[in-house]
Amino acid sequence: MDLKEIEAKSILVKSNLPDTDYVINPYTGCSFGCTYCYASFMGRFNGKTFDDWGKYVFAKTNAPKLLERQIKSIKNKGKGKTVFLSSVTDPYQGIEAKYKLTRQCLQTLFEHDFQGLVAILTKSDLVLRDLNILQKLHHVEAGLTITSTDDSISRYFEKYAPAVSRRLKALATLNKAKISTYAFIGPLLPHYISKEKELDKLLKAIADTGTKEVYVEHINLTSYILGRLRKEMKNADPKILDTFYKSKNKKYQEELDKIVEDLCKKHKLKIRLGKTIKHGQ
Ligand code: SF4
Repeated sequence: MDLKEIEAKSILVKSNLPDTDYVINPYTGCSFGCTYCYASFMGRFNGKTFDDWGKYVFAKTNAPKLLERQIKSIKNKGKGKTVFLSSVTDPYQGIEAKYKLTRQCLQTLFEHDFQGLVAILTKSDLVLRDLNILQKLHHVEAGLTITSTDDSISRYFEKYAPAVSRRLKALATLNKAKISTYAFIGPLLPHYISKEKELDKLLKAIADTGTKEVYVEHINLTSYILGRLRKEMKNADPKILDTFYKSKNKKYQEELDKIVEDLCKKHKLKIRLGKTIKHGQ
């Protein structure tokens, strides 16, 4: 693993993501190294290849100081704005236990009385360490990515991320602590079209944690992601790989969407944005 400390030029970055005004990425790279990660393109800005994704993390050690300076430029203490941690890294990947950059950024938002929404998305139960700060923020929500209830499937696609079982427990703890939560089912694994029971199990497990809302995103199969998946799945059953190819197909997505909608209704889960998120078909 290539671990480095770096100084960033900016940390509060304007965003084009839906419902997001700013993003904070305290790290470059992500040690969780998910096979389907769209952020693997980040390597091109850092002298790394797509295949290096998951093997380097640069800690932006000046992130809290930079944020302290940049936060002052947001008018009305950020009322009505959303800051998202994080868009191209996981804010609670392993190295955060040592550097606490995410924690310090949250603390800075608190100390500057940030009144917008602080939105967190992670695959790690390390987020629970910061519960005391989250509870003090004006508006906060924490999302946990949950793509399967099966730890072995998660180990396959999300190699170094904490087991799904831990993420589900984290969601339950956040809900008990009255933090607003959601589960991010992204990517929606294409094989669910023929494994409805598995998807039912997944949505039930999410609902059982007390979570009420989900984002559902179809897999993004741009060429660089497909390239990584192909390498990773070279020994997998060709039928499974076939479902990945087919999942780009509109009809396939509509069929899977219907299954998702019905199961979300069954488990009283609201689909955020009112529909699943799709990429190029
Ligand atoms: S945790 Fe998120 S940012 Fe990190 S590799 Fe996985 S998908 Fe990418």
